[in-house]
Amino acid sequence: MAHDILAIGAHPDDIELGCGGSLAKLAFAGARIHALVLSRGGRGCHDGADRSDESHRALRRLGAWQVLQHDFPDTCFPSCRNAIISVLEQACEAIQPQRVYTMCGEDHHQDHRTVHEASIVACRSVPQILCYESPSTLPQFAPQVFEDISVQLELKIRALREHASQGDRHYMQESHLRCHAQFRGQQVGIGPSEGFLPHRLVL
Ligand SMILES: [Zn+2]
Repeated sequence: MAHDILAIGAHPDDIELGCGGSLAKLAFAGARIHALVLSRGGRGCHDGADRSDESHRALRRLGAWQVLQHDFPDTCFPSCRNAIISVLEQACEAIQPQRVYTMCGEDHHQDHRTVHEASIVACRSVPQILCYESPSTLPQFAPQVFEDISVQLELKIRALREHASQGDRHYMQESHLRCHAQFRGQQVGIGPSEGFLPHRLVL
């Protein structure tokens, strides 16, 4: 099993929503989870507050071994592309992950697309790159790799409750989280799941 796993997200909550159950499963099995969050998410909050504390608590609940917090400007990632690539390259060099979870490119949020593109460049020596979805992922996202998170779904829901500032968003509702996980699992006839598009998958 992969030992060091790097999960990359643009904003606080991206990682938890997209692959939180899978990370919890891997952490429980003994993997070291490194979560890298590229912004503090001020634009997504009513008062522009720093949401990184919420995210760190949520990621810790899911079993993250460390959380690497950066401070790129929310919604302005395309103008910071090269700097983001550098940060991700340094993380890959330091961690030597066997697998990276990053954001998928089929997304209407410019920050998410930039994270995807920068990851593909920076993580070029990582054997496994799996791309996760977000609430702004486009309908054409068609996952090909699935992780059954039946056992981890309750933990994922509890972890996401740490995002109190985002509690009124539709995708944070417990019913939505359950339905979405069931939908992904149903696509391949298994229990509640998270779905991924592999960019590269060396077995
Ligand atoms: Zn985001």
